Amino acid sequence: MPDHMQKYVTLQRRMADKRGPEERMRDHREILPDLTPENAAAQASRCEQCGTPYCQVYCPLHNNIPDWLKMTAEGRMQEAYHLAQATNNFPEICGRICPQDRLCEAKWACTLEQAGHGTVTIGAVERHIGDTAWARGWVRARRPTQETGQSVGIVGAGPAGMAAAEELRAAGHAVHLYDRHARIGGLMSYGIPEFKMEQQLVARRAGLLTEAGVIFHGGQVLGRDIGFADLRARHDAVVLAYGAYVARGLGITGEDLSGVIPAMDYLVSSSRAQIGETDAPGIDAADKWVVVIGGGDTAMDCVRTAVRQGAAGVTCLYRRDRANMPGSAREVGHAEEEGAEFGWQSQPEALEDVPVDVIASRPDGFGMRGAIRSVRAHRTRLVASAKGGRMEPVAIPGSGFEIAADLVINALGFAVADAAALTGGAVAMTPQGRIAADRQTRMTAADGVFVAGDARLGPSLVVWAIREGREVAAAVTAYLAAAPARPMLETGNATSSQFAETATGSVQCG
Ligand code: FAD
Ligand code: SF4
Repeated sequence: MPDHMQKYVTLQRRMADKRGPEERMRDHREILPDLTPENAAAQASRCEQCGTPYCQVYCPLHNNIPDWLKMTAEGRMQEAYHLAQATNNFPEICGRICPQDRLCEAKWACTLEQAGHGTVTIGAVERHIGDTAWARGWVRARRPTQETGQSVGIVGAGPAGMAAAEELRAAGHAVHLYDRHARIGGLMSYGIPEFKMEQQLVARRAGLLTEAGVIFHGGQVLGRDIGFADLRARHDAVVLAYGAYVARGLGITGEDLSGVIPAMDYLVSSSRAQIGETDAPGIDAADKWVVVIGGGDTAMDCVRTAVRQGAAGVTCLYRRDRANMPGSAREVGHAEEEGAEFGWQSQPEALEDVPVDVIASRPDGFGMRGAIRSVRAHRTRLVASAKGGRMEPVAIPGSGFEIAADLVINALGFAVADAAALTGGAVAMTPQGRIAADRQTRMTAADGVFVAGDARLGPSLVVWAIREGREVAAAVTAYLAAAPARPMLETGNATSSQFAETATGSVQCG
Protein backbone atom coordinates (compact mmCIF):
# COMPACT_ATOMS: atom_id res chain seq x y z
CA MET A 1 0.00 0.00 0.00
CA PRO A 2 1.50 3.38 -0.95
CA ASP A 3 2.24 5.87 1.79
CA HIS A 4 -0.49 8.12 0.45
CA MET A 5 -3.46 6.07 1.65
CA GLN A 6 -5.12 4.78 4.84
CA LYS A 7 -4.60 8.06 6.67
CA TYR A 8 -7.95 7.66 8.46
CA VAL A 9 -6.05 6.59 11.58
CA THR A 10 -4.63 10.07 12.07
CA LEU A 11 -6.80 12.27 9.82
CA GLN A 12 -10.38 13.24 10.69
CA ARG A 13 -13.13 13.46 8.10
CA ARG A 14 -13.48 17.12 7.19
CA MET A 15 -15.69 18.89 4.65
CA ALA A 16 -15.01 22.39 3.36
CA ASP A 17 -16.55 24.99 5.70
CA LYS A 18 -20.17 25.74 4.79
CA ARG A 19 -21.13 29.38 4.47
CA GLY A 20 -22.95 30.42 7.64
CA PRO A 21 -26.77 30.36 7.60
CA GLU A 22 -27.06 34.13 8.04
CA GLU A 23 -24.96 34.77 4.95
CA ARG A 24 -26.38 32.04 2.73
CA MET A 25 -30.02 32.95 3.45
CA ARG A 26 -29.39 36.30 1.77
CA ASP A 27 -28.63 34.77 -1.63
CA HIS A 28 -29.26 31.66 -3.75
CA ARG A 29 -25.60 30.72 -4.26
CA GLU A 30 -24.09 27.35 -3.38
CA ILE A 31 -23.48 26.90 0.33
CA LEU A 32 -20.31 24.77 0.12
CA PRO A 33 -17.05 25.85 -1.53
CA ASP A 34 -14.76 23.35 -3.26
CA LEU A 35 -12.07 21.60 -1.19
CA THR A 36 -8.61 23.11 -1.60
CA PRO A 37 -6.20 20.81 -3.54
CA GLU A 38 -4.36 20.06 -0.28
CA ASN A 39 -7.56 19.17 1.60
CA ALA A 40 -8.90 17.10 -1.31
CA ALA A 41 -5.66 15.08 -1.37
CA ALA A 42 -5.73 14.73 2.43
CA GLN A 43 -9.38 13.64 2.56
CA ALA A 44 -8.91 11.21 -0.33
CA SER A 45 -5.90 9.72 1.48
CA ARG A 46 -8.17 8.59 4.35
CA CYS A 47 -9.56 5.81 2.11
CA GLU A 48 -8.74 2.30 3.24
CA GLN A 49 -8.65 0.93 -0.37
CA CYS A 50 -11.02 -1.91 0.51
CA GLY A 51 -10.71 -5.24 -1.29
CA THR A 52 -14.48 -5.18 -1.82
CA PRO A 53 -15.30 -1.47 -2.10
CA TYR A 54 -18.94 -1.17 -1.05
CA CYS A 55 -18.81 2.54 -1.92
CA GLN A 56 -18.54 1.45 -5.56
CA VAL A 57 -21.20 -1.24 -5.16
CA TYR A 58 -23.75 1.25 -3.78
CA CYS A 59 -22.99 3.91 -6.40
CA PRO A 60 -25.65 3.53 -9.13
CA LEU A 61 -22.93 4.23 -11.73
CA HIS A 62 -20.44 1.92 -10.00
CA ASN A 63 -17.89 4.69 -10.15
CA ASN A 64 -14.35 3.48 -9.58
CA ILE A 65 -14.19 5.42 -6.33
CA PRO A 66 -11.17 3.79 -4.63
CA ASP A 67 -8.96 4.36 -7.66
CA TRP A 68 -9.85 7.99 -8.22
CA LEU A 69 -9.44 8.64 -4.50
CA LYS A 70 -5.94 7.20 -4.71
CA MET A 71 -5.11 9.29 -7.78
CA THR A 72 -6.36 12.41 -6.01
CA ALA A 73 -4.29 11.60 -2.94
CA GLU A 74 -1.25 11.25 -5.22
CA GLY A 75 -2.00 14.50 -7.08
CA ARG A 76 -2.71 12.69 -10.39
CA MET A 77 -5.75 14.85 -11.09
CA GLN A 78 -6.02 14.47 -14.86
CA GLU A 79 -6.01 10.69 -14.52
CA ALA A 80 -8.55 10.96 -11.72
CA TYR A 81 -10.85 12.98 -13.99
CA HIS A 82 -10.56 10.56 -16.89
CA LEU A 83 -11.41 7.68 -14.60
CA ALA A 84 -14.33 9.56 -13.01
CA GLN A 85 -15.87 10.55 -16.35
CA ALA A 86 -15.41 7.07 -17.78
CA THR A 87 -18.46 5.98 -15.77
CA ASN A 88 -20.18 9.32 -15.11
CA ASN A 89 -21.01 11.98 -17.71
CA PHE A 90 -21.25 14.73 -15.06
CA PRO A 91 -18.97 14.05 -12.05
CA GLU A 92 -18.92 17.66 -10.81
CA ILE A 93 -22.73 17.60 -10.75
CA CYS A 94 -23.05 14.30 -8.87
CA GLY A 95 -20.35 15.44 -6.46
CA ARG A 96 -22.68 18.29 -5.47
CA ILE A 97 -26.19 16.89 -5.55
CA CYS A 98 -26.03 13.14 -5.01
CA PRO A 99 -27.41 12.23 -1.60
CA GLN A 100 -24.12 10.52 -0.72
CA ASP A 101 -25.38 9.86 2.80
CA ARG A 102 -27.80 7.35 1.22
CA LEU A 103 -25.39 6.00 -1.44
CA CYS A 104 -21.58 5.68 -1.41
CA GLU A 105 -21.06 7.40 1.98
CA ALA A 106 -23.88 5.57 3.78
CA LYS A 107 -23.05 3.54 6.87
CA TRP A 108 -23.70 0.35 4.92
CA ALA A 109 -21.40 1.49 2.10
CA CYS A 110 -18.16 3.09 3.26
CA THR A 111 -16.20 0.76 5.53
CA LEU A 112 -14.73 3.66 7.48
CA GLU A 113 -18.21 4.81 8.48
CA GLN A 114 -19.04 1.30 9.65
CA ALA A 115 -15.85 1.21 11.69
CA GLY A 116 -16.68 4.51 13.39
CA HIS A 117 -13.95 6.60 11.74
CA GLY A 118 -16.35 8.72 9.67
CA THR A 119 -16.90 8.12 5.97
CA VAL A 120 -14.49 9.28 3.29
CA THR A 121 -15.80 12.57 1.80
CA ILE A 122 -16.38 10.88 -1.55
CA GLY A 123 -18.82 13.45 -2.96
CA ALA A 124 -16.61 16.42 -2.07
CA VAL A 125 -13.58 14.76 -3.71
CA GLU A 126 -15.63 13.90 -6.83
CA ARG A 127 -16.69 17.53 -7.08
CA HIS A 128 -13.07 18.64 -6.67
CA ILE A 129 -11.96 16.31 -9.46
CA GLY A 130 -14.66 17.69 -11.79
CA ASP A 131 -14.08 21.33 -10.88
CA THR A 132 -10.33 20.92 -11.35
CA ALA A 133 -10.87 19.35 -14.78
CA TRP A 134 -13.05 22.26 -15.89
CA ALA A 135 -10.60 24.82 -14.48
CA ARG A 136 -7.66 23.20 -16.30
CA GLY A 137 -9.48 22.72 -19.63
CA TRP A 138 -9.55 18.92 -19.60
CA VAL A 139 -13.30 18.67 -20.25
CA ARG A 140 -13.97 18.47 -23.96
CA ALA A 141 -16.95 17.94 -26.26
CA ARG A 142 -17.15 14.31 -27.42
CA ARG A 143 -17.39 14.60 -31.18
CA PRO A 144 -17.73 11.37 -33.15
CA THR A 145 -14.91 10.19 -35.38
CA GLN A 146 -17.41 8.79 -37.89
CA GLU A 147 -21.06 9.57 -38.70
CA THR A 148 -23.46 6.62 -38.90
CA GLY A 149 -26.04 8.50 -40.95
CA GLN A 150 -28.75 7.46 -38.47
CA SER A 151 -30.66 9.86 -36.28
CA VAL A 152 -32.15 9.68 -32.81
CA GLY A 153 -34.81 11.99 -31.36
CA ILE A 154 -34.80 12.35 -27.57
CA VAL A 155 -37.77 13.91 -25.79
CA GLY A 156 -36.62 15.46 -22.52
CA ALA A 157 -33.38 17.33 -21.91
CA GLY A 158 -32.89 16.34 -18.27
CA PRO A 159 -29.90 14.33 -17.05
CA ALA A 160 -31.21 11.12 -18.67
CA GLY A 161 -31.69 12.83 -22.05
CA MET A 162 -28.38 14.70 -21.74
CA ALA A 163 -26.35 11.59 -20.89
CA ALA A 164 -28.07 9.64 -23.69
CA ALA A 165 -27.43 12.51 -26.12
CA GLU A 166 -23.73 12.68 -25.26
CA GLU A 167 -23.25 8.92 -25.65
CA LEU A 168 -25.32 8.64 -28.84
CA ARG A 169 -23.57 11.58 -30.47
CA ALA A 170 -20.15 10.15 -29.54
CA ALA A 171 -21.28 6.92 -31.26
CA GLY A 172 -21.81 8.89 -34.48
CA HIS A 173 -25.58 9.34 -34.61
CA ALA A 174 -27.30 12.63 -35.39
CA VAL A 175 -28.99 13.54 -32.11
CA HIS A 176 -31.98 15.84 -31.69
CA LEU A 177 -32.98 16.82 -28.18
CA TYR A 178 -36.54 18.16 -27.74
CA ASP A 179 -37.79 19.88 -24.61
CA ARG A 180 -40.68 22.08 -23.59
CA HIS A 181 -38.28 24.41 -21.79
CA ALA A 182 -35.96 26.93 -23.40
CA ARG A 183 -32.84 25.39 -21.83
CA ILE A 184 -31.17 22.05 -21.55
CA GLY A 185 -31.07 20.58 -18.03
CA GLY A 186 -34.53 19.33 -17.02
CA LEU A 187 -34.94 19.36 -13.26
CA MET A 188 -31.26 20.26 -12.93
CA SER A 189 -32.15 23.66 -14.47
CA TYR A 190 -35.76 24.19 -13.44
CA GLY A 191 -36.16 22.23 -10.20
CA ILE A 192 -32.97 21.87 -8.21
CA PRO A 193 -32.20 25.30 -6.72
CA GLU A 194 -28.97 27.19 -7.18
CA PHE A 195 -28.01 26.83 -3.51
CA LYS A 196 -27.50 23.12 -4.22
CA MET A 197 -25.93 23.55 -7.65
CA GLU A 198 -25.29 26.74 -9.58
CA GLN A 199 -26.77 26.92 -13.05
CA GLN A 200 -23.57 27.66 -14.90
CA LEU A 201 -22.56 24.03 -14.25
CA VAL A 202 -25.52 22.74 -16.23
CA ALA A 203 -25.15 25.43 -18.88
CA ARG A 204 -21.53 24.52 -19.62
CA ARG A 205 -22.45 20.81 -19.93
CA ALA A 206 -25.27 21.84 -22.29
CA GLY A 207 -22.72 23.86 -24.26
CA LEU A 208 -20.54 20.77 -24.69
CA LEU A 209 -23.49 18.86 -26.14
CA THR A 210 -24.19 21.47 -28.78
CA GLU A 211 -20.47 21.76 -29.50
CA ALA A 212 -20.46 18.01 -30.16
CA GLY A 213 -23.29 18.53 -32.67
CA VAL A 214 -26.38 17.69 -30.62
CA ILE A 215 -29.27 19.80 -31.94
CA PHE A 216 -31.52 21.23 -29.24
CA HIS A 217 -35.15 22.10 -29.99
CA GLY A 218 -36.36 24.20 -27.05
CA GLY A 219 -40.01 25.12 -26.50
CA GLN A 220 -41.24 21.89 -28.11
CA VAL A 221 -43.89 19.96 -26.20
CA LEU A 222 -44.58 16.37 -27.20
CA GLY A 223 -48.32 16.12 -27.81
CA ARG A 224 -48.67 19.85 -28.51
CA ASP A 225 -45.91 21.08 -30.85
CA ILE A 226 -44.61 17.71 -31.99
CA GLY A 227 -46.84 14.72 -32.70
CA PHE A 228 -45.53 11.29 -31.82
CA ALA A 229 -46.05 9.89 -35.36
CA ASP A 230 -44.13 12.80 -36.87
CA LEU A 231 -41.30 12.38 -34.37
CA ARG A 232 -41.08 8.66 -35.08
CA ALA A 233 -41.04 9.30 -38.82
CA ARG A 234 -38.21 11.83 -38.51
CA HIS A 235 -35.84 9.59 -36.58
CA ASP A 236 -34.45 6.08 -36.78
CA ALA A 237 -35.03 5.73 -33.05
CA VAL A 238 -36.78 7.77 -30.38
CA VAL A 239 -36.03 7.99 -26.65
CA LEU A 240 -38.72 9.16 -24.24
CA ALA A 241 -36.93 10.80 -21.29
CA TYR A 242 -39.59 13.26 -20.26
CA GLY A 243 -39.38 12.72 -16.49
CA ALA A 244 -42.17 12.62 -13.92
CA TYR A 245 -44.12 15.84 -13.51
CA VAL A 246 -47.74 15.04 -12.71
CA ALA A 247 -48.16 16.35 -9.14
CA ARG A 248 -49.78 13.92 -6.71
CA GLY A 249 -52.83 15.55 -5.12
CA LEU A 250 -53.01 16.10 -1.37
CA GLY A 251 -56.30 14.22 -1.37
CA ILE A 252 -57.81 16.49 1.29
CA THR A 253 -60.55 19.08 1.20
CA GLY A 254 -59.47 22.57 0.28
CA GLU A 255 -56.53 21.59 -1.90
CA ASP A 256 -57.98 23.67 -4.74
CA LEU A 257 -58.08 26.88 -2.68
CA SER A 258 -56.03 29.76 -3.99
CA GLY A 259 -52.67 29.99 -2.24
CA VAL A 260 -52.30 26.20 -2.39
CA ILE A 261 -49.77 25.41 -5.10
CA PRO A 262 -47.82 22.43 -6.49
CA ALA A 263 -44.12 22.37 -5.56
CA MET A 264 -42.92 22.39 -9.16
CA ASP A 265 -44.89 25.56 -10.00
CA TYR A 266 -43.14 27.21 -7.08
CA LEU A 267 -39.63 25.93 -7.83
CA VAL A 268 -39.85 26.54 -11.59
CA SER A 269 -40.97 30.13 -11.00
CA SER A 270 -38.02 30.66 -8.64
CA SER A 271 -35.54 28.96 -11.00
CA ARG A 272 -36.72 30.98 -14.00
CA ALA A 273 -36.08 34.20 -12.08
CA GLN A 274 -32.68 32.93 -10.92
CA ILE A 275 -31.54 32.08 -14.45
CA GLY A 276 -32.84 35.35 -15.84
CA GLU A 277 -35.81 34.05 -17.84
CA THR A 278 -38.10 36.33 -15.79
CA ASP A 279 -37.43 39.50 -13.81
CA ALA A 280 -38.96 38.18 -10.59
CA PRO A 281 -40.43 34.88 -9.38
CA GLY A 282 -44.05 34.46 -10.44
CA ILE A 283 -44.79 33.03 -6.99
CA ASP A 284 -42.99 34.86 -4.22
CA ALA A 285 -42.90 33.74 -0.58
CA ALA A 286 -41.57 37.10 0.67
CA ASP A 287 -43.24 38.06 3.98
CA LYS A 288 -45.57 35.07 3.81
CA TRP A 289 -46.17 32.30 6.30
CA VAL A 290 -45.43 29.20 4.35
CA VAL A 291 -46.39 25.59 5.04
CA VAL A 292 -44.72 22.91 2.92
CA ILE A 293 -46.33 19.46 2.94
CA GLY A 294 -43.99 16.51 2.26
CA GLY A 295 -40.69 14.99 3.41
CA GLY A 296 -38.63 14.45 0.26
CA ASP A 297 -35.92 16.47 -1.46
CA THR A 298 -38.55 18.53 -3.25
CA ALA A 299 -40.03 19.60 0.08
CA MET A 300 -36.58 20.59 1.36
CA ASP A 301 -35.92 22.63 -1.76
CA CYS A 302 -39.24 24.47 -1.33
CA VAL A 303 -38.55 25.15 2.34
CA ARG A 304 -35.08 26.52 1.66
CA THR A 305 -36.22 28.58 -1.34
CA ALA A 306 -38.99 30.18 0.74
CA VAL A 307 -36.43 31.05 3.44
CA ARG A 308 -34.28 32.79 0.82
CA GLN A 309 -37.22 34.68 -0.62
CA GLY A 310 -37.75 36.23 2.82
CA ALA A 311 -40.75 34.24 4.09
CA ALA A 312 -42.04 35.35 7.48
CA GLY A 313 -41.90 31.73 8.63
CA VAL A 314 -41.60 28.30 7.04
CA THR A 315 -42.92 25.05 8.48
CA CYS A 316 -42.59 21.65 6.88
CA LEU A 317 -45.25 19.09 7.81
CA TYR A 318 -44.35 15.44 7.36
CA ARG A 319 -46.41 12.46 8.51
CA ARG A 320 -43.46 10.27 9.54
CA ASP A 321 -40.44 11.13 11.67
CA ARG A 322 -36.99 12.28 10.67
CA ALA A 323 -35.57 8.74 10.50
CA ASN A 324 -38.31 7.61 8.12
CA MET A 325 -38.33 10.49 5.70
CA PRO A 326 -37.38 9.92 2.06
CA GLY A 327 -35.27 13.07 1.72
CA SER A 328 -31.59 13.41 2.51
CA ALA A 329 -30.83 13.96 6.23
CA ARG A 330 -28.10 16.37 5.12
CA GLU A 331 -30.70 18.61 3.43
CA VAL A 332 -32.92 18.62 6.53
CA GLY A 333 -29.90 19.73 8.56
CA HIS A 334 -29.28 22.60 6.14
CA ALA A 335 -32.94 23.66 6.30
CA GLU A 336 -32.94 23.62 10.11
CA GLU A 337 -29.78 25.73 10.23
CA GLU A 338 -31.55 28.22 7.97
CA GLY A 339 -34.44 28.58 10.39
CA ALA A 340 -37.12 26.28 8.95
CA GLU A 341 -39.35 24.46 11.41
CA PHE A 342 -40.34 20.82 11.08
CA GLY A 343 -43.64 19.39 12.20
CA TRP A 344 -42.67 15.72 12.31
CA GLN A 345 -45.43 13.11 12.50
CA SER A 346 -47.97 15.68 11.36
CA GLN A 347 -50.57 14.68 8.80
CA PRO A 348 -52.66 17.42 7.14
CA GLU A 349 -56.35 16.55 6.92
CA ALA A 350 -57.96 19.70 5.48
CA LEU A 351 -57.19 23.17 4.20
CA GLU A 352 -59.70 25.78 5.19
CA ASP A 353 -60.57 29.43 5.08
CA VAL A 354 -60.48 30.28 8.75
CA PRO A 355 -60.30 33.76 10.26
CA VAL A 356 -56.75 34.09 11.42
CA ASP A 357 -57.62 35.37 14.87
CA VAL A 358 -59.23 32.06 15.85
CA ILE A 359 -55.99 30.19 15.38
CA ALA A 360 -54.27 30.04 18.71
CA SER A 361 -51.90 27.16 18.19
CA ARG A 362 -48.92 29.41 17.51
CA PRO A 363 -48.68 31.99 20.28
CA ASP A 364 -45.45 33.35 18.77
CA GLY A 365 -47.58 35.17 16.22
CA PHE A 366 -47.36 32.65 13.40
CA GLY A 367 -50.16 33.34 10.97
CA MET A 368 -51.06 36.70 12.42
CA ARG A 369 -49.74 38.70 9.53
CA GLY A 370 -52.50 38.44 6.95
CA ALA A 371 -52.67 34.65 6.76
CA ILE A 372 -55.40 33.44 4.46
CA ARG A 373 -55.52 29.69 5.03
CA SER A 374 -55.49 27.24 7.85
CA VAL A 375 -53.92 23.82 7.60
CA ARG A 376 -55.78 21.42 9.88
CA ALA A 377 -53.63 18.45 10.82
CA HIS A 378 -53.24 15.70 13.39
CA ARG A 379 -50.27 13.96 14.94
CA THR A 380 -49.34 10.41 14.08
CA ARG A 381 -47.64 7.47 15.74
CA LEU A 382 -45.56 5.10 13.65
CA VAL A 383 -46.17 1.39 13.33
CA ALA A 384 -44.20 -1.31 11.50
CA SER A 385 -45.35 -1.66 7.91
CA ALA A 386 -46.89 -4.99 6.89
CA LYS A 387 -44.98 -4.67 3.59
CA GLY A 388 -41.65 -3.97 5.33
CA GLY A 389 -39.73 -0.78 4.63
CA ARG A 390 -40.54 2.55 6.22
CA MET A 391 -42.80 2.78 9.30
CA GLU A 392 -46.44 3.64 8.60
CA PRO A 393 -48.18 6.62 10.24
CA VAL A 394 -51.42 6.11 12.18
CA ALA A 395 -53.51 9.05 13.41
CA ILE A 396 -53.44 9.76 17.15
CA PRO A 397 -57.06 10.46 18.20
CA GLY A 398 -57.64 13.92 19.65
CA SER A 399 -54.27 15.25 18.47
CA GLY A 400 -55.67 17.78 15.96
CA PHE A 401 -54.06 21.19 15.55
CA GLU A 402 -54.11 24.09 13.10
CA ILE A 403 -51.47 26.21 11.45
CA ALA A 404 -52.18 29.41 9.56
CA ALA A 405 -50.49 29.98 6.22
CA ASP A 406 -50.45 32.43 3.34
CA LEU A 407 -48.91 29.88 1.01
CA VAL A 408 -49.31 26.11 1.16
CA ILE A 409 -46.94 24.12 -1.05
CA ASN A 410 -47.81 20.56 -2.01
CA ALA A 411 -44.53 18.65 -2.24
CA LEU A 412 -45.95 15.14 -2.02
CA GLY A 413 -44.25 13.86 -5.17
CA PHE A 414 -44.87 13.22 -8.82
CA ALA A 415 -46.15 10.66 -11.29
CA VAL A 416 -45.21 10.02 -14.94
CA ALA A 417 -47.46 11.52 -17.64
CA ASP A 418 -49.47 8.89 -19.51
CA ALA A 419 -47.36 7.78 -22.47
CA ALA A 420 -50.33 6.03 -24.08
CA ALA A 421 -52.12 9.36 -24.39
CA LEU A 422 -48.99 11.09 -25.77
CA THR A 423 -48.26 8.38 -28.35
CA GLY A 424 -51.76 7.53 -29.56
CA GLY A 425 -51.62 4.21 -27.71
CA ALA A 426 -48.31 3.07 -29.23
CA VAL A 427 -46.55 3.04 -25.86
CA ALA A 428 -48.03 1.50 -22.70
CA MET A 429 -47.69 2.23 -18.99
CA THR A 430 -46.95 -0.25 -16.18
CA PRO A 431 -49.53 -0.80 -13.42
CA GLN A 432 -47.21 1.31 -11.22
CA GLY A 433 -47.62 4.25 -13.59
CA ARG A 434 -44.25 4.23 -15.39
CA ILE A 435 -43.52 3.82 -19.09
CA ALA A 436 -43.39 0.09 -19.80
CA ALA A 437 -40.27 -1.22 -21.54
CA ASP A 438 -38.25 -4.40 -21.86
CA ARG A 439 -35.79 -4.48 -18.97
CA GLN A 440 -32.81 -5.43 -21.15
CA THR A 441 -33.45 -3.64 -24.45
CA ARG A 442 -35.23 -0.62 -22.89
CA MET A 443 -37.58 -0.69 -25.88
CA THR A 444 -41.26 0.08 -25.35
CA ALA A 445 -44.13 -1.68 -27.15
CA ALA A 446 -43.41 0.59 -30.14
CA ASP A 447 -40.55 -0.57 -32.37
CA GLY A 448 -37.54 1.75 -32.10
CA VAL A 449 -39.02 3.75 -29.20
CA PHE A 450 -37.06 3.59 -25.95
CA VAL A 451 -37.44 5.06 -22.48
CA ALA A 452 -35.01 6.33 -19.83
CA GLY A 453 -34.84 8.18 -16.53
CA ASP A 454 -37.70 9.11 -14.22
CA ALA A 455 -40.15 8.26 -17.01
CA ARG A 456 -39.10 4.60 -16.64
CA LEU A 457 -38.18 4.50 -12.94
CA GLY A 458 -40.63 6.97 -11.43
CA PRO A 459 -39.19 9.94 -9.46
CA SER A 460 -35.59 9.06 -8.66
CA LEU A 461 -32.18 10.72 -8.60
CA VAL A 462 -29.88 12.48 -11.05
CA VAL A 463 -27.28 9.72 -10.73
CA TRP A 464 -29.87 7.09 -11.69
CA ALA A 465 -30.99 9.25 -14.60
CA ILE A 466 -27.38 9.41 -15.86
CA ARG A 467 -27.12 5.64 -15.63
CA GLU A 468 -30.42 5.32 -17.50
CA GLY A 469 -29.19 7.67 -20.22
CA ARG A 470 -25.99 5.68 -20.68
CA GLU A 471 -27.81 2.36 -20.76
CA VAL A 472 -30.48 3.51 -23.19
CA ALA A 473 -27.78 4.92 -25.47
CA ALA A 474 -26.09 1.51 -25.59
CA ALA A 475 -29.45 -0.15 -26.27
CA VAL A 476 -30.30 2.30 -29.06
CA THR A 477 -26.89 1.89 -30.66
CA ALA A 478 -27.30 -1.91 -30.63
CA TYR A 479 -30.78 -1.55 -32.15
CA LEU A 480 -29.53 0.80 -34.89
CA ALA A 481 -26.56 -1.43 -35.70
CA ALA A 482 -28.98 -4.28 -36.40
CA ALA A 483 -31.60 -2.15 -38.18
CA PRO A 484 -31.80 -2.18 -41.97
CA ALA A 485 -31.18 1.22 -43.55
CA ARG A 486 -34.46 3.10 -43.70
CA PRO A 487 -35.69 4.70 -46.90
CA MET A 488 -35.92 8.48 -46.65
CA LEU A 489 -39.47 9.36 -45.64
CA GLU A 490 -41.34 12.32 -47.00
CA THR A 491 -40.37 14.45 -44.00
CA GLY A 492 -36.82 13.13 -44.46
CA ASN A 493 -34.78 11.19 -41.93
CA ALA A 494 -33.28 13.98 -39.88
CA THR A 495 -29.56 14.49 -40.09
CA SER A 496 -27.74 17.15 -38.10
CA SER A 497 -27.27 19.48 -41.02
CA GLN A 498 -30.90 19.26 -42.16
CA PHE A 499 -32.11 20.25 -38.70
CA ALA A 500 -29.54 22.97 -38.37
CA GLU A 501 -31.20 24.54 -41.42
CA THR A 502 -34.82 23.86 -40.58
CA ALA A 503 -34.89 24.31 -36.84
CA THR A 504 -32.48 27.16 -36.21
CA GLY A 505 -35.24 29.29 -34.71
CA SER A 506 -35.94 26.81 -31.96
CA VAL A 507 -32.36 25.80 -31.22
CA GLN A 508 -31.31 27.26 -27.90
CA CYS A 509 -28.84 26.16 -25.37
CA GLY A 510 -27.47 26.85 -21.96
P1 FAD B 1 -36.07 15.44 -15.86
O1 FAD B 1 -34.86 16.01 -15.21
O2 FAD B 1 -37.36 15.69 -15.19
O3 FAD B 1 -36.11 15.96 -17.34
C1 FAD B 1 -37.21 15.69 -18.17
C2 FAD B 1 -37.35 16.78 -19.21
O4 FAD B 1 -38.46 16.45 -20.04
C3 FAD B 1 -37.64 18.15 -18.63
O5 FAD B 1 -36.71 19.08 -19.14
C4 FAD B 1 -39.06 18.47 -19.11
O6 FAD B 1 -39.22 19.85 -19.39
C5 FAD B 1 -39.16 17.63 -20.37
N1 FAD B 1 -40.55 17.30 -20.72
C6 FAD B 1 -41.52 16.79 -19.91
N2 FAD B 1 -42.63 16.57 -20.61
C7 FAD B 1 -42.37 16.95 -21.89
C8 FAD B 1 -43.14 16.96 -23.09
N3 FAD B 1 -44.40 16.51 -23.14
N4 FAD B 1 -42.56 17.43 -24.22
C9 FAD B 1 -41.27 17.89 -24.21
N5 FAD B 1 -40.51 17.88 -23.10
C10 FAD B 1 -41.04 17.42 -21.96
N6 FAD B 1 -31.93 14.25 -7.54
C11 FAD B 1 -30.69 14.23 -7.02
O7 FAD B 1 -29.91 13.33 -7.34
N7 FAD B 1 -30.29 15.19 -6.14
C12 FAD B 1 -31.08 16.21 -5.79
O8 FAD B 1 -30.68 17.06 -4.99
C13 FAD B 1 -32.39 16.27 -6.33
N8 FAD B 1 -33.21 17.30 -6.02
C14 FAD B 1 -34.44 17.34 -6.60
C15 FAD B 1 -35.26 18.43 -6.35
C16 FAD B 1 -36.50 18.51 -6.92
C17 FAD B 1 -37.34 19.71 -6.65
C18 FAD B 1 -36.98 17.47 -7.74
C19 FAD B 1 -38.36 17.55 -8.32
C20 FAD B 1 -36.17 16.40 -8.03
C21 FAD B 1 -34.90 16.33 -7.46
N9 FAD B 1 -34.05 15.27 -7.74
C22 FAD B 1 -32.79 15.24 -7.21
C23 FAD B 1 -34.45 14.21 -8.68
C24 FAD B 1 -33.84 14.44 -10.06
O9 FAD B 1 -33.89 15.80 -10.40
C25 FAD B 1 -34.54 13.60 -11.10
O10 FAD B 1 -34.54 12.25 -10.69
C26 FAD B 1 -33.83 13.70 -12.46
O11 FAD B 1 -33.76 15.03 -12.88
C27 FAD B 1 -34.57 12.85 -13.50
O12 FAD B 1 -33.97 13.04 -14.73
P2 FAD B 1 -34.78 12.85 -16.09
O13 FAD B 1 -33.84 13.25 -17.16
O14 FAD B 1 -35.37 11.50 -16.12
O15 FAD B 1 -36.01 13.86 -16.01
FE1 SF4 C 1 -12.43 3.79 0.56
FE2 SF4 C 1 -14.79 3.78 1.97
FE3 SF4 C 1 -14.70 2.92 -0.58
FE4 SF4 C 1 -13.48 1.48 1.37
S1 SF4 C 1 -15.71 1.86 1.15
S2 SF4 C 1 -12.68 1.94 -0.73
S3 SF4 C 1 -12.76 3.14 2.70
S4 SF4 C 1 -14.27 5.03 0.13
